[in-house]
Amino acid sequence: MQKPALTANAAGHLLLGGVDTVELAQTYGTPLVVYDVAAIRQQIQAFKESLQANGLRYQVSYASKAFATVAMYQLVTQTGIHTDVVSGGELYTALQAGLPAERISFHGNNKSRAELEQAVDAQVGVIILDNFYEIELLHTVLLEKNATCWVMLRLTPGITPHTHQYIQTGQVDSKFGFDVDSGQADQAVQQVLAIPQMHLIGIHAHIGSQIFGVQGFELLANKLVDIAADWRDRFDYVPEVLNLGGGFGIRYTDVDQPLSPATFIDHIAAAFKKRVALRGLALPEVWLEPGRSIVGPAGYNLYTVGSRKDIPELTSYVAVDGGMGDNIRPALYQADYQAVCANHLNAPLVAPVHLAGKYCESGDILIDQAHLPAVAPGDLVAVLATGAYGYSMASNYNRNPRPAVVFVENGQAKCVVARESYADLTRLDQSYL
Ligand SMILES: *Cc1c(COP(=O)(O)O)cnc(C)c1O
Repeated sequence: MQKPALTANAAGHLLLGGVDTVELAQTYGTPLVVYDVAAIRQQIQAFKESLQANGLRYQVSYASKAFATVAMYQLVTQTGIHTDVVSGGELYTALQAGLPAERISFHGNNKSRAELEQAVDAQVGVIILDNFYEIELLHTVLLEKNATCWVMLRLTPGITPHTHQYIQTGQVDSKFGFDVDSGQADQAVQQVLAIPQMHLIGIHAHIGSQIFGVQGFELLANKLVDIAADWRDRFDYVPEVLNLGGGFGIRYTDVDQPLSPATFIDHIAAAFKKRVALRGLALPEVWLEPGRSIVGPAGYNLYTVGSRKDIPELTSYVAVDGGMGDNIRPALYQADYQAVCANHLNAPLVAPVHLAGKYCESGDILIDQAHLPAVAPGDLVAVLATGAYGYSMASNYNRNPRPAVVFVENGQAKCVVARESYADLTRLDQSYL
């Protein structure tokens, strides 16, 4: 097992953003979610720079379901990029954070009337239409409000990247988007073009998540250009924006060999340039929607070690004070992670153990084979690359309060989400007596 590149101070404590993780645990308690803000900024910058270097007109839209809090939307606002939201709650949070509405794209396969009204009232940048019911519903809302809005059509292009089936979204049999092959997409574009209250700026597809190859994106770029050329010929309409979605893979363990944003983007740009030349189209504006790759590698979950169970000649379980309530991905789709001992970063490793959570489910195992030093109660364990779909999927299962979230940068720590209290847990409960 390869050691991840992490830095320790003289005491052997893991440093994140120049801050001692042992001090973080003492100050804020555990479990604790920590984000290295510089890593988030660098990744956003990498996407922007590569798109620019390829001479593309572009937008990077952070897919905020990966981690959606006021502080994160503020960071997005600072960096100048756009954001995707998929619910009224995410939209509300983004607006609370001061993110300009025109930089927000609203996604979702079943947006409610209330959510569409909220989006129209806020004048979000674009609503991504997902199905025929939604076209009708949004049309009704716009008529009632005597409003107009920008829309995109989400298409299901029939492209299947190699990834877990729960995180594939581009195949024909998907709950998302208008199917291209059966002609639903053609029908949708004609409907939308006939609605004067909707301005159709482009088309969108998102083929899946945790993708490690360029091929799916190249196929998608070709397919979207072909659809654009086809619609030009048949409907006299050319989409200005081709949105390729997100899904750029990250490194959770040694098994993962992610490509850099630059590698993805160089291939995507080359595919676009070749195909538009072939089809006689102008180069479109290209939008990308990275979620996981922006926040995933920057996040760390810190836990304190508690009980231990050794089954003679079989295996050992080391339990920590968190688990599926703050990171459900291992239980939900067998996601793998790597961990280190944050208070003895460079201690020699011993035989792997099961890193267990504290929740009442046998499936609450954070890491099946955790390569750690000999750990004792009170030691601090850091699970790496937890920044995407960890805190954002957190729950109060077993009535455990959700952890605090801390941003670290340049040796400074800032708490950006407070730890829930027991009082928070019963705040919405109403007496029955
Ligand atoms: C989830 C999602 C993304 C981001 O996917 P990641 O794998 O986190 O990069 C982008 N676009 C849409 C429409 C999504 O639903």
